[in-house]
Parts: sequence; C-alpha cells; structure tokens
Amino acid sequence: MEFDTIAAISTPMGEGAIAIVRLSGDDAIRIASQLFRGIHGKKLTEVVSHTIHYGHLVDPKDGQVVEEVMVSVMKGPKTFTKEDVVEINCHGGIVSVNRVLKHVLKNGARLAEPGEFTKRAFLNGRIDLSQAEAVMDLIRAKTDRAMNLALGQMEGRLSKLIRKLRQEILEILAHVEVNIDYPEYDDVEEMTHKMLKEKASYVREEIEKLLQTSEQGKILREGLSTVIIGRPNVGKSSLLNSLVHENKAIVTDIPGTTRDVIEEYVNVRGVPLKLVDTAGIRETEDIVERIGVERSRQVLKEADLILLVLNYADQLTAEDENLFKAVEGMDVIVIINKTDLPQQIDLERVKDLAGEHRMVTTSLLEDRGVDELEDAISALFFAGAIEAGDQTYVSNSRHIALLSQSLQAIEEALDGVEMGTPIDIVQIDLTRTWELLGEIIGDSVHESLIDQLFSQFCLGK
Ligand code: GDP
Ligand code: ZN
Repeated sequence: MEFDTIAAISTPMGEGAIAIVRLSGDDAIRIASQLFRGIHGKKLTEVVSHTIHYGHLVDPKDGQVVEEVMVSVMKGPKTFTKEDVVEINCHGGIVSVNRVLKHVLKNGARLAEPGEFTKRAFLNGRIDLSQAEAVMDLIRAKTDRAMNLALGQMEGRLSKLIRKLRQEILEILAHVEVNIDYPEYDDVEEMTHKMLKEKASYVREEIEKLLQTSEQGKILREGLSTVIIGRPNVGKSSLLNSLVHENKAIVTDIPGTTRDVIEEYVNVRGVPLKLVDTAGIRETEDIVERIGVERSRQVLKEADLILLVLNYADQLTAEDENLFKAVEGMDVIVIINKTDLPQQIDLERVKDLAGEHRMVTTSLLEDRGVDELEDAISALFFAGAIEAGDQTYVSNSRHIALLSQSLQAIEEALDGVEMGTPIDIVQIDLTRTWELLGEIIGDSVHESLIDQLFSQFCLGK
C-alpha cells in the first residue's frame, strides 16, 4: 500500500519536558533530513536505521536555527506503522513543538488525522483491529490495572483467543463440508454431529467466559460508577474529600467527551472510582434537591457502587431507612461515620438493614477507617475475580456486543444439532459465528467502521 507522509505531535499537549513530533511515510526521512543539521554533519538519509541523532532543526530557506533536537530515524518495516518513521524530540512547550511541526508540514508532510498512525499500523498489517483499539484504551487508561488490561489486549491476548475459537469453528465447518459432500456415509454424519457438539460447546463456553469478564473489564476501563448518599450532615462531603485527597485524582481531559453530570475519578487500589454527581454533594448537599427525584433515581439505578453514609452519633431516622430501601439489590457499602462522638445509633438495627452489605466504621474527622473502606471497595470489586494480570478481560463495548451476537449464533447452531436440523442449516449459524468473531479482530469489517474507530483516537497516535 502507498500512503503520503503524515506528521503530528505525539506527546500530550503542554505536558512533559520533551515533546515529540512524529512523521511516518515514504518521505519521512527525506523531509526530516532537509530540516536537520547534525553535529557530525551526517545527513539523516545516510544514517543507519534505528539510531538517534543530536543536532539542530533549521529553516532550509535561510539556514536559521529553529530548535535544538534529537532525531530518531527508523526505517520500515520494523516500525510502529511499518513505514519509515522519524521522531523529532524537542523541548516541551506548545510554542517550540508547534514550530517544529510547522516546519515539517511546510516541507512536505501532511498533518495526521486523529488515530491515523495507528490506522496505518492496522492497514499495513502491523496490528489487528482489537490491538488498534487497545492503543486507544491505553491513551485513556485511568489506572495501572486498566493500563495492564489495555497492554494485554495490545499484545494480542484477546486476538489470540479469538483466532483459536475461529480455528475451532473452521474445523467443524470443514467436517460439515465433508458430510454434505458425502451424505451416503452414515458414520461420517455421526462423527460430524458428535464433533460439532463437542467443539461448538467448547466455543460457546469460551465466549461465555469472555463475556463474564466484560463487566469488570468495562469498569476497569470506564470506572466504577459510584454515588455517595446519606442524610444531610452525616459526612458525605468529608468522605468525598478524603477519597479525592488520599488518592491520586485521575485527570479526565478526554477530548470530545461530553458529560452532563459532574464526575471525578479517583484510583482506589487500582479500581477507578467515578464519583458521580459530586457537584450535588458539594454545592447543595442534596442530590435529590439538585437534580430532582426522577433524575436521582436514574443516577442511583445506573451506579455500580453506592456508599451509604450514616451518623454514628445520631439515631437512625425514617430517611435512613428509606435510603436502604432505595438501594435494595445494589452493591452497597454502609459507612457509619463520626465514631469519635458518643454512640447514638442502634447498631443492631443497622446490621439488620445492611443485611449482606459490607459495613465500615469511620471517623472522617480523625481520618480513621478510610483504609478499611478502601479495602472494602477493592474486595467488592475483585471478589472472586482473578487478578487482572493473568486474565483476558473484554472491556470494549464493541467487542462485548459482537461476543454476545456470536454467543447467540453458536447457541442456535447447537440447538439445531439438538433438534436434528439439516446440517447445511447449522452450517449457516456456524459461519455467522465465525464471521462475528472475525469482526472483533478486524477481519471482514467495513471501511466505514474502520474510519469511525480510528477517528476516535487522539491526534498523533
Ligand atoms: P454532608 O452534609 O453529609 O456532606 O456532611 P459534611 O461532610 O459536610 O459534614 C458535616 C459536618 O460533620 C461537618 O462539620 C464535618 O466537619 C463534620 N464531620 C464529618 N465527619 C465527621 C466525623 O467523623 N466526626 C465528627 N465529629 N464530625 C465529622
Ligand atoms: Zn457537605
């Protein structure tokens, strides 16, 4: 395939001491060479591949020095895009990096579209679609665990598993083909049915297993949607503040995301908590008052985790009891706050109300109990789950949708076998399963889907 040479700033804007302008394409090295004066006088077109060179970026028109730079030259195909790639490292700061980019563009490169580097890596066969999506997740990763998840996917863990499943289906299809071609042999038919049941059941189980990880995967990716509720004055704001202050707040300047509720992210033991409607807590103290009963019901319903705060130094009220009712059936951690004050609350009654929910006592004033709360959050999230490291999590909603459809298709195939449906009908369901799985890794996807996916990437990746 042939592409023109693209360029973009590939480090976050305005951050870090070093910024990188990346070029990719047939002319990448020639363009960079025109602009570069190395201290050893060598031209970039003459240097060995995968080496880095110190020198100055100059304006070829007047020879004026623009920037002090380090330039890496990497010839394809052993590069991220499989094309010739040049990375110009310069001092951070928007002004200087933009100046470098401007000169690169003036000398023949085109500004890359969002995600275009990754798109090229995909189109040039360097990575498959699920890996390309992982690059995007990596850019957005909110905690180390989410990062590991994305890394695992990028290394192709999911792709590998999907390929294996597709291979299994192909083997069944091959058998079915033989069966259709030689219907007169009874034993072939018998074997086909037996094998079909075995292999298709295996594929179904694997898809089911993957889907089971999707909830956690999604949470790692998007954050555990968390709502703090409680009567006025029990300590909701204090809880929010200590969660935010004790944990690294996660920056969420993802371009293009619109949010109608204010959210704040904190990293609790590797679980990204998305604290929903914190503005409601901070400003009016009352989520119901601020967004209305209907809306707050909706917020509660969509929450993955409820932190229900009670006052240790006060008696339970009807309002407290109503809160328990409102969150029935949800994941709730009950926090009994203000344990530094004399007890008024009926703990037996709280235990009754809490039922299966975890309970934690805190004194936010004296900074006690927050560790236990964090333990409880982490335990709740990772209960029964295998550590992120050795598990293939599905986190991408496109993958989840395709897996659900594949599961349905393979189940139809299995039902067909069970009911003695003609094998060439079963074949259709199997083929569909194979195709749907293929879409996850980008075999058999449409051009428009590819464009849409890559346009979500940050510029320069
Ligand atoms: P909210 O209305 O539920 O958001 O409660 P706030 O977090 O605003 O707290 C209400 C009051 O209780 C404030 O004066 C806090 O300083 C105080 N407070 C919060 N936690 C504790 C605690 O553990 N012990 C004591 N004694 N006071 C607390
Ligand atoms: Zn408050």
